[in-house]
Amino acid sequence: MEIPTLENRYPTHLPDDGFRRCQPAPAADPALLLWNGDLAAELGMGTEWPANPDAGRLWTGTELPGGSVPIALAYAGHQFGRPVPRLGDGRAVVLGQLTDRAGRRHDLQLKGSGPTPFSRGGDGRAALGPVLREFVVSEAMHTLGIPTTRALAAATTGETVQRQFGPEPGAVLTRVAASHLRFGSFEYYAHRGDTAGLRCLADTAIRWHFPALRAQPAPMRYLALLRAVMERTAALVNEWLRVGFIHGVMNTDNMTLSGETLDYGPCAFMDHFRPDRVYSSVDRDGRYAWNQQPRMAHWNLVRLAECLLPLVDEEDDAAVEAAEAVLGEYADLFAIGHSHMLARKLGLAGTEDAPGGSGTVESELGERMLAFMARHGADFTNTWQLLLKAPPDDHDQRMRVREWFDHDEEVDAWMAEYGARLHALGIDEAVRVRRMTAANPVIIPRNHRVEMALEAAREGDLAPIRRLIDALRTPYRSPSGFPELTLPPEPREIVPATFC
Ligand code: AMP
Ligand code: MG
Ligand code: MG
Repeated sequence: MEIPTLENRYPTHLPDDGFRRCQPAPAADPALLLWNGDLAAELGMGTEWPANPDAGRLWTGTELPGGSVPIALAYAGHQFGRPVPRLGDGRAVVLGQLTDRAGRRHDLQLKGSGPTPFSRGGDGRAALGPVLREFVVSEAMHTLGIPTTRALAAATTGETVQRQFGPEPGAVLTRVAASHLRFGSFEYYAHRGDTAGLRCLADTAIRWHFPALRAQPAPMRYLALLRAVMERTAALVNEWLRVGFIHGVMNTDNMTLSGETLDYGPCAFMDHFRPDRVYSSVDRDGRYAWNQQPRMAHWNLVRLAECLLPLVDEEDDAAVEAAEAVLGEYADLFAIGHSHMLARKLGLAGTEDAPGGSGTVESELGERMLAFMARHGADFTNTWQLLLKAPPDDHDQRMRVREWFDHDEEVDAWMAEYGARLHALGIDEAVRVRRMTAANPVIIPRNHRVEMALEAAREGDLAPIRRLIDALRTPYRSPSGFPELTLPPEPREIVPATFC
């Protein structure tokens, strides 16, 4: 396996105190477990399972790829609403960057490769279960078409780590991200009152993620950055809602400038629909419930905006006013995206349509459908599949839908209105089906399926997790051969909570 020589862009583009050089700890008995051939190909590496006997050593950090100068990044954050001035990569190191075949640059990061200057008493390690979980779920996110960090490799260290429920095998995930700049990276400099550091970081974020903004003059440029991040964040959260995803830990240190989903801890895809659904065992107040995510994204954007104020205007009041004007657009921006998302799920709009349009009727239909699902505890993913397969003009199919919702009569009226809307917009059955197929996945990484696969992996059987990853490569197509992957859990299979 050939690995292109890594670049090291953080030392060039961040102030010196934004990172610490840090060597990964060598693993006792490293072995590669999962390899993402598709991603490897995009990054210009070999697509085949690495024949290189040193692959396990490389993807645990025991041996470094050429050019790598590993660093741990400094950041701060708000964790469940509380400011923490110093977090940082406590168990991760950025190895360097690679440019993919499309010319985009990505960070290569090891997660679980030993203590760093930011470990704060933690062991710097990762356990096998969470590493495999991030691998499966982040790759599912990618194939669903949702911006995310990705997983290149998972390897075991041959060591044991102590966790809440006892000893677990140690493992390392190789994560690929557009960058590891977070809202919390800005908070780090803001806490220190370091305006020069903030400016450097903001200009780096613009250079890496929003190069079109570089031409704008100074104060405007930072407001434009805030607006651009706001747009990507709102779009990302709408995409999470589309597939029933609950991030679980939307702390500001887990929010990226790039708009990619970052940090797969106690996240989950919902089975039976409940708008206030929470899986994370540590989210006791439901702060990051499914339906709280849009509001919490805004809350996080306000924290980012606060950091940018010194770059916007020397006068506090003027800076606050300018930032508030930008943040004031969030509600409309999100709502337009949301109605477009619901319209797509109903086949009333396609990805090719601009968001907005005749939005309100579509979003009203979508919201009412969500209310039916909530009232009857219907499976989120499979309800959209049922609607996809039920032309509203077909009497028998309408009856099937009604039966699905425990014979709820209001569903009849809804189906009639839905049919009328399709007619009014001139959308024929073939177009409806094509659009709905593109917006509604058949397979998601259901919690119980992920847990079963992890359980098998702990016993040394990787076949179930490989099968799951394989089926999730085409989430909008029915899996050939594994119909159980589309089924909600039996009562005894339900995984009510996730842990990190
Ligand atoms: P998270 O909740 O995953 O976003 O992590 C919050 C912070 O805790 C980050 O600074 C992590 O680097 C740090 N952290 C999490 N697990 C460990 C660990 N096992 N050892 C050291 N630091 C950790
Ligand atoms: Mg994190
Ligand atoms: Mg985490």
